[in-house]
Amino acid sequence: MEPLLIAGHEIKAGETKRIEIPMVRLYTDTTMSIPVYVKRGKRNGPTLFLSAAIHGDELNGIEIINRIINSKAIRTLKGTLIAVPMVNVYGVLNQSRYLPDRRDLNRSFPGSQRGSLAARMAYTFLNEIVAKADYGIDFHTGAIHRSNLPQIRANLDDAETLDLAKAFGIPVLLNANLRDGSLRQCAADLGTKILLYEAGEALRFDELAIRAGVKGAIKVMRHLGMLNKSKARVKKEIEPYIARQSGWVRASESGLVMHHKQ
Ligand SMILES: [Zn+2]
Repeated sequence: MEPLLIAGHEIKAGETKRIEIPMVRLYTDTTMSIPVYVKRGKRNGPTLFLSAAIHGDELNGIEIINRIINSKAIRTLKGTLIAVPMVNVYGVLNQSRYLPDRRDLNRSFPGSQRGSLAARMAYTFLNEIVAKADYGIDFHTGAIHRSNLPQIRANLDDAETLDLAKAFGIPVLLNANLRDGSLRQCAADLGTKILLYEAGEALRFDELAIRAGVKGAIKVMRHLGMLNKSKARVKKEIEPYIARQSGWVRASESGLVMHHKQ
């Protein structure tokens, strides 16, 4: 297995490490860093990264990653898991989607070494984490007071990405056109296949969204051969609905709405 080097730390086959990637200091001169959990199996396999809170107020992914790295399922991991529960550490502290320079990290890729705070963060994350992975799952939520139905957004025109998206095992897959400056677009350029999981709303933990996210990521790892196949009886998977476009349903009248449809 090739040596893996992240922010100067070497992680060998069979090792599990929690490391810190140094980040731009706060204006109080306080040092900042992004915590990273790395687990390498003894046996070969692909490298998968998990990332959350690229938007600092999107909390579900933080809990999804915490549950995955503490789960028994990954004890027999083949290959490498790189988990970054909080990418935008500044936003998590401020309960904000944005960075202290008011930029959106997910519009700042690929970034640069000498640019704005957002540009430098994007550059470091892309080069220290994303570039070293074959696959990635990036966890997001809807905005404040706007809850997203659990869904995968990905480039479904790519056959391998479509297979990964189906392996996640949720009912809705949305083909998403790559937007300028997003992690997905830059990851695609580097050859890293990315799924984006969207579920729930900002600043809230949603148990349903969290469970579906944990399950989905584990299923993707099984699909990639990183984990043994489940011994549990396999339920018949539902064929997901593949959406080519999305839109908001607006109320035609004023008032309060109650959802009755499952
Ligand atoms: Zn987001």
